[in-house]
Amino acid sequence: GLGAMEEKPAAATKHTTICLGSMASGLREVYESGRTKDMEWRQSQLRGLISLLTDNEEEIFDVLHEDLGKHRGEAFRDELGILVKSIKYTLQNLKKWMAPEKAEAPLVAFPATAMVVPEPLGVVLIFSCWNLPLGLALEPLSGALAAGNAIVLKPSELAPATAAFLAANIPKYLDSSAVKVVLGGPNVGEELMEHRWDKVLFTGSARVGRIIMTKAAKHLTPVALELGSKCPCIVDWLDGKRDRQIAVNRIIGAKWSTCAGQACIAIDHILVEEKFAPILIELLKSTLKRFMAEPGGMARILNEKHFQRLSAYLEDSNVASSVVHGGYMDRKTLRIEPTILLNPPVDSDIMTEEIFGPLLPIITVKKIEDSIAFLKSKPKPLAIYAFTTNESLKRRIVEETSSGSVTFNDAVVQYALESVPFGGVGHSGFGQYHGKYSFELFSNKKAVFKRSFLIEFMFRYPPWDDSKIGT
Ligand code: NAD
Repeated sequence: GLGAMEEKPAAATKHTTICLGSMASGLREVYESGRTKDMEWRQSQLRGLISLLTDNEEEIFDVLHEDLGKHRGEAFRDELGILVKSIKYTLQNLKKWMAPEKAEAPLVAFPATAMVVPEPLGVVLIFSCWNLPLGLALEPLSGALAAGNAIVLKPSELAPATAAFLAANIPKYLDSSAVKVVLGGPNVGEELMEHRWDKVLFTGSARVGRIIMTKAAKHLTPVALELGSKCPCIVDWLDGKRDRQIAVNRIIGAKWSTCAGQACIAIDHILVEEKFAPILIELLKSTLKRFMAEPGGMARILNEKHFQRLSAYLEDSNVASSVVHGGYMDRKTLRIEPTILLNPPVDSDIMTEEIFGPLLPIITVKKIEDSIAFLKSKPKPLAIYAFTTNESLKRRIVEETSSGSVTFNDAVVQYALESVPFGGVGHSGFGQYHGKYSFELFSNKKAVFKRSFLIEFMFRYPPWDDSKIGT
């Protein structure tokens, strides 16, 4: 049926277009019926999502392992666990978010009331990415449901087991006439963009983000783009042994244990003072040995293409000679050893492109404050991280740099917060979600102003004379 369409070869494009067209108009009909606006409907959908996740835990671990070699521990921490926590939070707060908000009304309008009333946008489209193929699909989906929309989800074709899981289970657990899953790759994505949507949330590369935005312009469809960037991590001189160890644990967690660095907010590279670099590298090496002792502790590279992209970084001999740890790559199993590089040339590809993999360049600076100028010379990233106890450095980072988020003394974990917005700025994208921000992203804040017939001031109307002007 329409719930799960395979990508059609070019010859079948016309057929696909017709299918997608009737699907889109079917969804609009459902939306117009008003069903999805009811709070009870929204709550039942959110509960359905929780059941989808908890009933199928084992299968979810299996598909994430099949697509990315993710360990179930990591899969629980980064996808399943976060999702259940986030959807429960949405359920708890939904009534409050849906409530009209009273606003100030001017005295000259007395008696009057002003309100902000959230309403769903209508029929929305969500494109997800393959690295958190469950989380990046269902996190925005839960927000769109909470806001009362009809929805099309297009999971990434590059995580096919998870995509098939979503296509098979979403119709079982959710209202299948209001929520559709469309499978397929770029062709299907482009065809979906031929139709009119009330919002598109896209997670993926800037290259495809540009295509989405261009196509959206035709229908004046608003878009939110969750793109990538190079997220820097400043590591200041840390005094105590304990602080150093905690910092290193967290750096490893945010680089190699998060889908092998294939995460939009993974640490891309480190900035550190020259004198602290050897201490940091030694501690990274010894801790990696403990954390990654078991085979299968780290996810694998998505596919041959991404493996090739990552291995190409090391084909540059100036980059290869900067490797101080790791560097082993096994094309057959798509595994890349956690790899540390010290001062690869700053104009090499690995320092100008988003890495999105288990390679970690460490760049040394004379004074840690110099890293601020380094950050300011780059495009605005999704996240900036800094391990430091220096309050004035923290203040300077927040005040002088720009990014979607800043996290001190940890990394990546900000993704799990419902209370702060998640999204990019500048080249890392726009449109923020998670928690209430997801609800708002998929809602229209409608201004509602109520007046009465009680009092009427004639000075607002012509004929004009000077007594009607002035204070
Ligand atoms: P991509 O941009 O190639 O694909 C993303 C989605 O777009 C998929 O669903 C795909 O089918 C679809 N698509 C591809 N070509 C299309 C086209 N021509 N028209 C319409 N749809 C099309 O994804 P990628 O490059 O493999 O993903 C990695 C990038 O995503 C990185 O830059 C990463 O940082 C970013 N990312 C961002 C976030 C975030 O939340 N900001 C999360 C994960 C990944």
